[in-house]
Amino acid sequence: AGDGHLPLLNGLNDEQLAAATLEGGHALILAGAGSGKTRVLTTRIAWLLQTGRATPGGILAVTFTNKAAKEMLSRLSTMLPINVRGMWIGTFHGLCNRMLRAHYKSANLPQAFQILDTQDQLSAVKRLCKQFQVDEEALPPKQLQYFISGCKEEGLRPSDVQARDTAERKKVELYQLYEEQCLREGVVDFGELMLRSYELLRDNLPIRQHYQHRFRHMMVDEFQDTNRLQYLWLKQLAGDMVAGQFQSHSSVIAVGDDDQSIYAFRGARVGNMQDFVREFDVRQQIKLEQNYRSYSNILDSANALISHNSNRLGKNLRTDQGPGEPVRVSESATDMAEAQWMVEEIKSLVKSDGFARSEIAVLYRSNAQSRILETSLFNAGVAYRVYGGLRFFERAEIKHALAYLRLLENPHDDTSFMRVVNFPPRGIGARTTEQLQEGAQAAGCSLYDAVTAVAGKAGTKLQAFVAMVDVLREETQGKTLRETIERMLVVSGLIEHYQSEKEGADRIDNLGELVTAAESFVTQEGFGKDAVAIPLDEQQAMGVPGSGQSPVSQGLDPDAPALDIQLPDAANPAMVNPDTGETLSPLVAFLTHAALEAGDNQAQAGQDAVQLMTVHASKGLEFDAVFIGGLEEGLFPHENAMTDTGGLEEERRLMYVAITRARKRLYLSTSQTRMLHGTTRYNVRSRFLDELPEEALKWLSPKHSGFGSGMGSLAYGGGAGRASSGGGYGDAAPNMWGKTPVPAQKAEPAHGIKKGANVFHNKFGEGKVLAVEGTGDDARAQVNFPRHGTKWLALSVAKLTVV
Ligand code: ATP
Ligand code: MG
Repeated sequence: AGDGHLPLLNGLNDEQLAAATLEGGHALILAGAGSGKTRVLTTRIAWLLQTGRATPGGILAVTFTNKAAKEMLSRLSTMLPINVRGMWIGTFHGLCNRMLRAHYKSANLPQAFQILDTQDQLSAVKRLCKQFQVDEEALPPKQLQYFISGCKEEGLRPSDVQARDTAERKKVELYQLYEEQCLREGVVDFGELMLRSYELLRDNLPIRQHYQHRFRHMMVDEFQDTNRLQYLWLKQLAGDMVAGQFQSHSSVIAVGDDDQSIYAFRGARVGNMQDFVREFDVRQQIKLEQNYRSYSNILDSANALISHNSNRLGKNLRTDQGPGEPVRVSESATDMAEAQWMVEEIKSLVKSDGFARSEIAVLYRSNAQSRILETSLFNAGVAYRVYGGLRFFERAEIKHALAYLRLLENPHDDTSFMRVVNFPPRGIGARTTEQLQEGAQAAGCSLYDAVTAVAGKAGTKLQAFVAMVDVLREETQGKTLRETIERMLVVSGLIEHYQSEKEGADRIDNLGELVTAAESFVTQEGFGKDAVAIPLDEQQAMGVPGSGQSPVSQGLDPDAPALDIQLPDAANPAMVNPDTGETLSPLVAFLTHAALEAGDNQAQAGQDAVQLMTVHASKGLEFDAVFIGGLEEGLFPHENAMTDTGGLEEERRLMYVAITRARKRLYLSTSQTRMLHGTTRYNVRSRFLDELPEEALKWLSPKHSGFGSGMGSLAYGGGAGRASSGGGYGDAAPNMWGKTPVPAQKAEPAHGIKKGANVFHNKFGEGKVLAVEGTGDDARAQVNFPRHGTKWLALSVAKLTVV
């Protein structure tokens, strides 16, 4: 092994091969969508392992979502006969969590620390604001939350923040108080996971050196969307400054696409790319320009769109695949009609074209758009699945259940305490909880500990609640996770409560789903009665502590300093406490999983369902067919972003991401009216539609009767200016076009274009018609233009004249 000609490398093009088999040093791979960046990373890991250049324990790879990490792991396990579970492949948050679990003592965290998701964080901030009587008008809790997260993303503790005025000083003060509250309650938010892990590496030399020697091969996907702190975290792992020079023994391969940077609003810095090249002294930069994902009509659309942005690092994308179907564009009168159109197209893709439902995605700019789509899909009996929006682990009933579970693990978790102290209602009112909070504050203890100080009837009720949780904790000692959850659902009264609720059936189903999720978590992660399921030799291959091998046999650098600290190489970091070797409670592991995975997953997987998600959530994914709805000024591009060019360019990158998710079919749609937040908006169609190449598009023009007379099909044609949304349909009922999509006009337009004819196009000039296909609105001609090559043109749109 070692010469790079391994079966797993077959099929890579030269640049991909070079990138996958880079030797030594750091590298930046800058490449457009669908050019195989992620594939190169996966292949590289397999290659490193197979050629013995690295052991599973010596590799660290960062993906953008948990889903991407899972996909990478499952691809690896099909390429190689190894157990990949012990590998450090995951999101920044996942990896930081792993590190903090392993070194919780050095990081000053309780062993069973719990993670606050964004929602929990907001309730924690709200509680704090209430406690310190912050005027919510002057400083809304959301704003404070944003401030705190922003500071953490920049790596700033309260003492590092330079407040510019009184208002900001107040925020910093509250940030400090918030930190104290989190510490007291044993919880960390997402930003804290990252920051604390960074500080752990920065301030603890043995730990830093251990990881520096261990992770000789690091890879980061979607590098364009890393924030400052994530970059600094990587830098800590990669090396140290020695006499003003950055010294590194490892290889960091960063992979990204500046055109797909879509998280600037959350602190991502494309500038990390330039910093990386400069600070890591990157010598190798590789570009991948061949797109393997999409047909050229789709790719041409993406390229044309993004060319409207300035400040690009510059790269091209080409494909060898043919033009494929034209990109279909539809303009509807209402958002209802838009949704109906999509549903009909989806049904026909599945029925007539044999597309799998799971290979069809509907993307939207903002979550509010999903409701109407869901309704239409539901009514049509089409299975669908929503990513984002209200995710499984974020639903109210699930959060309640999780709060009870968290109290079992840690009664001092005040956020969970507050969430369920009176849920299901047990007569504990706001006055009582306020009194309790004041008592806790005065005594400097948790709400749980303050209960005994509340007198009277209210006190009795609180004590009954606490006793119920305590008894449940006793009862479930040594029980399986499933038994624990089932018992909790009964004892807490949650099931009974939802049974008596009119709309409670769904919620009970979801609680049942929680049991399922726990069950499959336990099996997947190897919990259960016979604890660790991994054979010893595999553990050794993965470097599990306690399996008795030296750092050398773990595949670590022989120079790695001997450590007193325990090595967190456990097969599953959530499973084994590296300090003691004992198994960490499956409950803690499951709660961690729930917090970290909340962003990704609905519980039921594997269902053949149409995928609904925001464009942000679709990054890195691909589908046979993609629908993008709501292409209207103010919605996409979003109005909040339209005031400055930076914002507009980020919106355009977002659109670029959306378009490039499609392999075979792309459908775009715009609606002249839309109900949003309770009011009807009259829209102008998105400028992005006008930035697409006319010859790649096919405008489907609904012949809505009563829709203003002058709006025949050509009025929608590209370049003909925006279809006016003004006159004509004030008197039309919004959903008179409901139900079925409007059939395309069947009458043959007199285009008179025949094979062999010489024609003139006002953009491409003169050309010769090679073929004509279809009739009516579907008619297209293949024309060879001497200067622009051969193109398929939709005759209902392209203005061709016979010469
Ligand atoms: P994005 O920017 O959207 O994340 P990417 O650059 O990561 O895209 P991949 O997802 O790795 O691209 O690859 C896109 C598609 O092309 C995948 O289906 C992948 O399997 C396929 N692909 C990549 N390289 C090749 C190749 N050399 N031969 C055939 N298919 C390839
Ligand atoms: Mg990718």
